[in-house]
Amino acid sequence: MSEKISREINGQTKEIAFKEEGKIKILELPVKIEVAEGSFLHIGAAPSPLTEKKGAIFKVDRIPVIPATSFKGALRHQLELLFIEKADEFTKIFNIPDDKKDLLNPCIPSPDPSKAEEELINLGKYRKKAKLGKKEISGCQISVDDKNILIPEINDQKIGICPVCYFMGTTGLMGFLRFSNFYPESEGSVIDQTNIRIDRKIGTAAARAKVDGEQVKPGTVFSGSISIVIFEPILEMQGIQFGDARKLGNKVIDKWLEYWDEKDKTKRTKTLIEKVMIPAIENIKLLGGQKSRGGGKVNVKIEV
Ligand SMILES: [Zn+2]
Repeated sequence: MSEKISREINGQTKEIAFKEEGKIKILELPVKIEVAEGSFLHIGAAPSPLTEKKGAIFKVDRIPVIPATSFKGALRHQLELLFIEKADEFTKIFNIPDDKKDLLNPCIPSPDPSKAEEELINLGKYRKKAKLGKKEISGCQISVDDKNILIPEINDQKIGICPVCYFMGTTGLMGFLRFSNFYPESEGSVIDQTNIRIDRKIGTAAARAKVDGEQVKPGTVFSGSISIVIFEPILEMQGIQFGDARKLGNKVIDKWLEYWDEKDKTKRTKTLIEKVMIPAIENIKLLGGQKSRGGGKVNVKIEV
């Protein structure tokens, strides 16, 4: 089994190789984000006393940037949807017994689920609140004290960490993904949508012109990467790599991977990348704000 992931891009097969950096082995997926035609991108900058401008977009050295955190949020959402939509297919791939299908349900990290999320919990698509010992928790958590390792339970069944938190990480437990910021490939990608208020009496722009906001133009392409940590020293000491169920003490914390009978570690890694990571990344269609005004439409591709 070769240490590469093949991708069909515009009719050509390209390969993404695993890289070893010291004691860490990673697979870096190069990602391109194109702002869709007819739309624009608006990822708001945090308000700062230095800019009086309203509706400024997030920038680094005056260049518009898609921060890793924005992309991360969008990917988390797509992973949730994928595990819900492909529940039957994944149940087969990961060999999950019929009465344990809910191991694949994603958690809702927020203590206050929205109405829509609550409906999906009732339909059995998302996890309901789990128990960690005697405590009720939202999202996934584990607790490690002197002698006791607690993992989440629902209806007295150990359910462990959900598949989405396996990839993305959760409170007190690292995931396997690392995100870069995304930078535009060309300059001049920002339009300043300035609505200047005309002072009717004088016929010139008023002293304090109102700025409605900046936008990134359609067609702008941003590039960056998502790295998947295949192994690092601590995991390696436990004989564990990306694709395996992790253990703490002798308790399995990634219960959804516990039944998978694939023994070849490289095949496990490839399956998770090809069946989960790549589809979830390429399913991202919206980023940032001003969605009600038609903003934020993007096309995302893994591109070598
Ligand atoms: Zn979770």
